Parts: sequence; C-alpha cells; structure tokens
Amino acid sequence: MINVTKTFLPDQREFQDILERAWSRGWMTNRGVLVKELEEKLKDHLGVPNIIAMTNGTLPIQIAIKALKLRGEIITPAFSYVATTSSIVWEGCTPVFVDIHPEYLTIDESLIEAAISPRTSAILATHVFGNPCEVDKIEAIAKKHNLKVIYDAAHCFGASYKDKSIFSYGDVSTCSFHATKLFHTGEGGALICKPELFDAMYFHHNFGHDGPETFRSLGINAKMSEMQAAMGLAVLPYMAHILERREAVVSYYREHISLQALKIREGTAWNFAYYPVLFEDEKTLLRTITALNKAEIFPRRYFYPSLDTLGYTTASELPVTHDVSSRILCLPLAHNLEVPDLERISKIINKR
Ligand SMILES: *Cc1c(COP(=O)(O)O)cnc(C)c1O
Repeated sequence: MINVTKTFLPDQREFQDILERAWSRGWMTNRGVLVKELEEKLKDHLGVPNIIAMTNGTLPIQIAIKALKLRGEIITPAFSYVATTSSIVWEGCTPVFVDIHPEYLTIDESLIEAAISPRTSAILATHVFGNPCEVDKIEAIAKKHNLKVIYDAAHCFGASYKDKSIFSYGDVSTCSFHATKLFHTGEGGALICKPELFDAMYFHHNFGHDGPETFRSLGINAKMSEMQAAMGLAVLPYMAHILERREAVVSYYREHISLQALKIREGTAWNFAYYPVLFEDEKTLLRTITALNKAEIFPRRYFYPSLDTLGYTTASELPVTHDVSSRILCLPLAHNLEVPDLERISKIINKR
C-alpha cells in the first residue's frame, strides 16, 4: 500500500537512547532537557532567532491570534487545511476569505485590499505546500492598513525565500510537526515570531506561568513533551537524507506526469513538501483516484473542500479556490518511494 506520505522513522534504538536521557531524570514534560535541546537545534537548523516547540501545529495559530489580541475579521484563504480557519473561528474572530493565485495557489495578494473593512485586524495566510505567499506585498498592505500578519507555515520546514527562512516573514509563523509532515515529532508544532512578541507568545503556551505560583497572563497548555522532543531529535539528523529522497521523487513526477503542477515562486528554496497536480476536471480526478485506489495507492485531495463550505463559515465567491479545490490531488511523496512505485503511479495517472 502506498499512502500520500510515509512517516520517516529512525532506528528505534536511536529514539530510545535519546528518550533515556529524559527517563533517567524522571522528567517527561514541562520544558525538559530534550525540548530545550530540540529548540536550540531547530533554531540552528532553520536559521531563526527564536522558536517555541509546541504540542501540535494548531495551538500556535490560536495562541498567535490570542496574543496579538486580534478581534473582528481576519483575512485568510479558503484553500488550506481546516486548522487555519477553525483557529480563527475558535478564537472568536470571523474569517473573511480571499481567493488564491491560480498557479502559486497562495492567497491572491491583489485581492486583499478590497476585502479589508474597518473590522479587519489581521491577515492569516498559508504558505501552501511550502510555496511562499507574496510576503513583501502582504507586508506593505499590512503596514498601510495597520494589520498584523500571521503565516500558517505548517508545510514550510526547512524552506527559504529570498535567502531567509520562510518562518522569518510576518509577525508570527507557525509550523506543524505532525507525523504526516516533512519533519515530525509524532504530534507537534512550533511558533516563530518577531523578537518583541516572543514573551507574549511564550507565556501563553504554558498557562501564563512566569513562576510556580505566579501568572503573567492568560494562557493555555501547548507544551511539547519529552517523548515528542525525543522523536524530533532522532529525526532531525536525517533531514538532508529525507530531502534528497523527496527531491528525486519530485524530479521523477515532473518529468513523467502530464498534468499541471505547482508553480514555485521565484526566489524560493523549496522543501519538496507535497506534490499536487491539477486534473482537467473533477470527473477525471475522481476516476483516477478510483483507479489508483484499486492499485492500493492512496493520494489525498489536499485541499478539499474549500473552507468557506464548512457550515460554520460563510460561503464566498472564490472562483479560483472552488475550481482548484475540485480538481487538485496530492500524489504520494515520501523518502521510501522507488522508481517502480513511481512508474505504477505515473502510468495510472497518464492513462486517465
Ligand atoms: C497540518 C496543518 C495544520 C495543523 O497542524 P497539526 O500539527 O496537525 O495541528 C495547520 N495548517 C496546515 C496548513 C496544515 O497542513
């Protein structure tokens, strides 16, 4: 069976040896040695000035909204994972959807200003599939209208844009270390922010504690555990290997699959996070999924449905989003795929 991705697992012994360091201290969470070590290594690996490891990639989005004291409307794409929109609604704000660019698939920055109202407090955009948004234009719009910018950078581990980590753009960036993501800790995630915002974000992720008996602010529990950090420390040394293997898969697809692929923004050092393709129409997409499933191949419809159709959001006029989400498919992409697997996948798709 071939799934849309395969979780990279190091040798179990390596994981256990790292975990032993937490075990011998009898200290399994509350910012133990492994979490702190993982944060230091990630700062170094990613080239970012700060990072807060968290227990998943959704809480950092919610904490960012809370800590920036956002209210009212937040401009966001409807083409993303549900967590981008659900976090806005969960924090009591209203998502206002803006359409996406038909090739980059990120929010269409030329449509943002028209969506701004007196109630708008921020832009929360996704760097979809590791492809950066037009960050410079978004920053200029945000400055002009006094808005905060949060990037859902769940897909962006290790990617850079204009020679800087993608995580260094915006007021806050969030990442996911879920088992299906490029770098993972089983469940996990992180928040990276402008230095002046660090304190507010940090205290929010640990109940607001600034001492055993003192609280600086409202908070929640988003702490990463030592078990999660051990997985991260075990996986991190393999990132170069994982990327090399994934790049080979992407090269194969680019050469062999006759479908529109993601256009990567110029200036991006991409991370091969996903391989989405656009079919001619939804009927062809569905027929091809059936054929792939018959061969025990399970791609995923990232991202479908459009997030304006969730029932708790407002249906919006988003022609590109609705079109793209109806006929996009993410093909299997993982370190373990070999040429015979890729041949089978490509043959079925090209026969559609
Ligand atoms: C995976 C993902 C998230 C949520 O991350 P979790 O770690 O699963 O909570 C948020 N946004 C996007 C775009 C994602 O793909």
